[in-house]
Amino acid sequence: MEFTELLKFIDLEDQRLKNYYGNYIDEEKRILARTVKLTEELGELCNEVLAANSLQRKQKLDKSDKNNLGEEFADVIITALLLSKSMNIDIQKVLQAKIIKINERYK
Ligand SMILES: [Mg+2]
Repeated sequence: MEFTELLKFIDLEDQRLKNYYGNYIDEEKRILARTVKLTEELGELCNEVLAANSLQRKQKLDKSDKNNLGEEFADVIITALLLSKSMNIDIQKVLQAKIIKINERYK
């Protein structure tokens, strides 16, 4: 999948979520909701990482589905992209700049 294809999906999902939840009076409420959602998804990812490494109680491990780990990574990425869209971040531009910055550490 190309990154631009992912960003097109984010635009579509952003519109679908706005249609579902309705338009807030101000964008701050949507930003707050998406920030909280990101922490929820990050918690779910942490849960799956613990399960994948058998670092949970047996009862939780028995209910664990190993297929959820990848899905939770996807949830974190999608939710972070939706939040960045709400905050008018040009994520492609900032990611490119960040990659350059990281690469320069190793020169
Ligand atoms: Mg999730």
